[in-house]
Amino acid sequence: MDYEESPNPIQSSDLTMRSSDGRFRVRVGSRHLATLLTMCRESESLETGGLLVGRYSEGHDTAVVTRVWGPPKDSIRRQASFWRGTRGLQRKLDSLWRTQEYYLGEWHYHPSGAAQPSKTDIRQMVRIAESPEYNCLEPVLIVVGGTRPTELEVVAHVFPRHHSPIRLESPDPGSLYSGQPTLACRLGSSQKRANSPATRRK
Ligand SMILES: [Zn+2]
Repeated sequence: MDYEESPNPIQSSDLTMRSSDGRFRVRVGSRHLATLLTMCRESESLETGGLLVGRYSEGHDTAVVTRVWGPPKDSIRRQASFWRGTRGLQRKLDSLWRTQEYYLGEWHYHPSGAAQPSKTDIRQMVRIAESPEYNCLEPVLIVVGGTRPTELEVVAHVFPRHHSPIRLESPDPGSLYSGQPTLACRLGSSQKRANSPATRRK
């Protein structure tokens, strides 16, 4: 159930977010962004989330999301918490190996709060980055937040292994959304820079 065929998808345009130094980028195509926002809207007052799946660009500087998966059936959704289940995920991920699509990270919906990762979110993402099972050196977390479903905001962070989280920002927030409801991408100054030298070439 990828929610790819939502009967009433939100209209949106592509979303590219990047770190201020340009080393990390995440691209979410319009269809996948619409899928994600539709799942958020349909979750109403409950938190929800799921997986980001895709591939890396040739230069390995851009994570391109090719699938947005909703919460596995054994997930627990509450008004102020979300525990993402695991049922069926490994089998689905294994089946994508042939098309070279991989686990890229997670997405969350915080229905009545800011689109910021919680302390728990950060801990979990750091654990994922360090986990040999996930085998993902730079997992991404996209958080959708907002107090009203008509004004959602999207914030992404990348969690490089052994680094502080790095906030990714949209260079052109005005073009994120066309039509109603509107989506605003808040440009913050809270980006945390990595403490240690870059280990990756652009
Ligand atoms: Zn969260």
